[in-house]
Amino acid sequence: MRQIRFPWGTALLAVILLAVPLSPGQDSTVEVYNLRHFTHPNFTRIVVDVGTLREYAPMESRDPGSIYVDIFQARLNPIVREEAIPSKCDYINLIRISQKSPGTVRVTADVDFSRIRRYQVYHVFDPFRIVIDIYPQEREAGPSLSPTAEKTPQPPQPAKSGYSMARQLGLGIKTVIIDPGHGGIDPGCLDPSGLKEKDLTLDISLRVKALLKANTKLDVILTRESDIFVPLENRTVVANQKKADLFVSIHVNAFPDKKRRGIESFYLNFSSDPNVNATAARENATTTKTIGQMDKIIRKIVQNSKIIESKELAEQIQLNLVKYLSRQYSDIKNLGTRGGPFWTLIGCEMPSILVEVSHISNAPEAQRLKTEGYRQQVARGIYEGILAYMQSLGKG
Ligand SMILES: [Zn+2]
Repeated sequence: MRQIRFPWGTALLAVILLAVPLSPGQDSTVEVYNLRHFTHPNFTRIVVDVGTLREYAPMESRDPGSIYVDIFQARLNPIVREEAIPSKCDYINLIRISQKSPGTVRVTADVDFSRIRRYQVYHVFDPFRIVIDIYPQEREAGPSLSPTAEKTPQPPQPAKSGYSMARQLGLGIKTVIIDPGHGGIDPGCLDPSGLKEKDLTLDISLRVKALLKANTKLDVILTRESDIFVPLENRTVVANQKKADLFVSIHVNAFPDKKRRGIESFYLNFSSDPNVNATAARENATTTKTIGQMDKIIRKIVQNSKIIESKELAEQIQLNLVKYLSRQYSDIKNLGTRGGPFWTLIGCEMPSILVEVSHISNAPEAQRLKTEGYRQQVARGIYEGILAYMQSLGKG
């Protein structure tokens, strides 16, 4: 492993070495079957669908400017379009993919480095894919009111002091994304009776949507409305494209310890708590080893993310879930609000949280999850949490 240090101070793992065991005579190449890209107001994401774990090496050249990634033991499926010009993006001229040599596929983004603030290359599992996020230089929001004003953005202050970014800017909430965890080929966690996390999360999400639609003027968008598979990073893409103001991902937890039960809410952060990392690893469909690699990425991201607002949103949802469930059910356990390394929250440009509404692995909680009444009360708690958060912004 070696590290490249880019001129703007971003360190990136340059060669990701992943052991791929092979039997003699076996075709070692995988087919790269898709290249996707999306441009948001704040960044462009390029996703290469590889399907199976492969080594890759991100590199760059300055003249002409390009960022490229070589994927080894790979061949390009002939149906993949080899060139694409991203629209609404003045810092990437062309995205290209080609068979560089018999065993190597190269993805290239021709860029104007003077317009780029930073970029990062990382991978996601299930199915394996390589992601390139490219962030343009900050654009001037408008003429500065005070010529002596600091150009460097000040770090957000804790929400309780009344100085968080959303409060300073008086931002209202118009669009809420509800993200039902898992779906399609990914059932999430299961219990022996056939209860599936993906069905519970969709049911609860639809109930939250119904409550919000009936009682507020908010636009409510679900990342899926049926039993389909949506890759984790696409959920963020939906949220960013819709310029959503809040992102709430709904999940049900499971632990080997069948006695563990309760409700907990998370916002994006690194964590040293093994229980948090075990939950995140399961939700990311990875091992806890990958969590170590994610730490580096997350440490960079959280500096610029809406961490204070996300924490506040998580706390309001946690508080209201426990409050509303306790009105009808005994022994509701509050496991609190914490930071955790969840892929589904990475790249969100708005306050974003993930809530584990109960444990499917705990028999009494699984029993409750089977009833409509409990799921409705869970939805009510999340709904009340969203309202409480909005009211805390003075715009509810
Ligand atoms: Zn889940």
